[in-house]
Amino acid sequence: MKRSVPFIRLAEALEKVRATSSKNEKVALVAEVLKGLQPRDAEVAARIVSGRSSERGSRDEAQVGYSTLLDVLRGVTGASESDVSKVYLRHGDLGEVAEELLGEKKEQTLFSEELTLAAVDDAFARLRSTKGKGSSAAKRGILKSLLLAATPLEGKYIVKVLTGEMRTGMVSGLLEEAIADAYGLSEEAAARGHMLLGDMGTFARVAASGKAAEVQMVPFRPVNFMLAEPFATAAEIAEHFGRQVYAEYKYDGIRAQVHRSGRVVKVFSRRLEEITSTFPEIVAAFEDAKGEFILDGEAVPFAGGRPLPFQLLQRRLRRMEGFEEAAKNAPVTYFAFDVLLLDGRETVGLPLSERRELLRSIVAGTEAKTAETFDVKTEEEVQAAFRRSRDLGYEGLVVKDPESLYGMGKRGSGWVKLKEELDTLDVVIVAAEYGHGKRAGVISDYTFAVRDGDELKTVGKAYSGLTDTEIGEMTRRLKEITVADHGYRREVKPEIVVEVAFDSIQRSERHDGGYALRFPRIKRIRTDKGPADIDDLVKVEKIFDGQKLKLDARRAQDSSAP
Ligand code: ATP
Repeated sequence: MKRSVPFIRLAEALEKVRATSSKNEKVALVAEVLKGLQPRDAEVAARIVSGRSSERGSRDEAQVGYSTLLDVLRGVTGASESDVSKVYLRHGDLGEVAEELLGEKKEQTLFSEELTLAAVDDAFARLRSTKGKGSSAAKRGILKSLLLAATPLEGKYIVKVLTGEMRTGMVSGLLEEAIADAYGLSEEAAARGHMLLGDMGTFARVAASGKAAEVQMVPFRPVNFMLAEPFATAAEIAEHFGRQVYAEYKYDGIRAQVHRSGRVVKVFSRRLEEITSTFPEIVAAFEDAKGEFILDGEAVPFAGGRPLPFQLLQRRLRRMEGFEEAAKNAPVTYFAFDVLLLDGRETVGLPLSERRELLRSIVAGTEAKTAETFDVKTEEEVQAAFRRSRDLGYEGLVVKDPESLYGMGKRGSGWVKLKEELDTLDVVIVAAEYGHGKRAGVISDYTFAVRDGDELKTVGKAYSGLTDTEIGEMTRRLKEITVADHGYRREVKPEIVVEVAFDSIQRSERHDGGYALRFPRIKRIRTDKGPADIDDLVKVEKIFDGQKLKLDARRAQDSSAP
């Protein structure tokens, strides 16, 4: 077997990728590195470029807290706590801190052998598998040897992967293109291979082995979910489709893919994590079903023919209760709305109208249900379906074109959604503060950010919306992911995603996003989303502009009034 290639090649390429704003150049740089790599190296390289240290969907990430990282960096470089703080404040990025400090490394390895991609990946694997009591010292040891062996530039990218802050602008579409270029795949073949395999590293490995064209959809390997485009009004939806389409209730639960083969049932989340043990009812519902299949649908807290509050499910997801007790307090019904695979045949390429027939025959006779659907065409019909949905306690509608195919991982206009509260934002918490009064001992004020290209920009601070138990839990998690502790305020690793509602958006100098949400409140903690799934500054600007239009219209009306 060929020797694994030096990690420095990848680190140098990433440095150039970060420096250029040209998408073509980014693609060419990464393709150049990938070309000719043996499959395992290709897997490691692509995964690192995508900013991950482990396979997508794996629950075991190489969890290293910021405090551990900082500690090891201090140990390896001899920097003091205040040196590190100063450097951190200058860069605001732990990878850059590592690069700067490693340039003045105190300790040296005896044999300075070049780090290879395989060696870095091995270290990540060891970090992942080091768990339980005494694991923190062992993790420090692994990290220390890794950083001692690394050049400053290598150290920078190792730390960037471990903190999940790659920020090279190499978004998933560009990386897909680079893999396609490196291994001679068409755009379609690359998109399909990536979607079916879910993880960028696995896809690069298969492509490097020349097997990308053979990838099939198979049970127990989750694929990316189709997403819906938000629309503001029933009128826009009626106009968008202009013909008879399906309106389905928008169920308020957790998106879940159900896989069944040979009496084994597994459930996967939107992040492609296996969540089977969280939902014993779903397993029970499909165990005795017929055939081998993959379904898409929503796990909804539901009892007595009505939906229950989503919050009940949230407790269950955060595993604050035993599974059995949880199933009693927040029983879940699976509402299936699509089928992706049936008895060895992919159905994603069939129109929704046909998929729906197949779905009905699979779900019939099980404890699961199919999503309720109405035929709608006019604005009035869409509006009536929407009202019905709200009256029954659902979130709104997802309106779907019967002709549409299932676009894995796509937010297409084949599915559009209509909600009461149009403007919520999914944001990530980047800093937090202790509260006052009865919240003095807990971290209850959260500064949050949206994405702006590769960067995170803050757009507000939320104090309300969570229960005391949730705040307690949040306090514990935020302490674990603290980057810099300034006493009452801490900066944290951007990891926790929350959905915030707000009254309006204002321009603001206080936040580096240039806007501030007014009266933001946390609607829910989005455990189903990661920092890659949050909203961006473009959406904030769009809402801002939209509200200005509404305001102008109102002013115009007021001034023309007698
Ligand atoms: P949201 O925050 O609005 O739930 P999202 O970002 O999670 O949005 P989108 O694809 O934009 O996901 O919106 C559709 C979501 O609505 C799906 O992810 C799914 O969880 C949920 N949903 C509920 N009922 C349906 C349905 N009948 N068809 C499709 N999706 C549905």
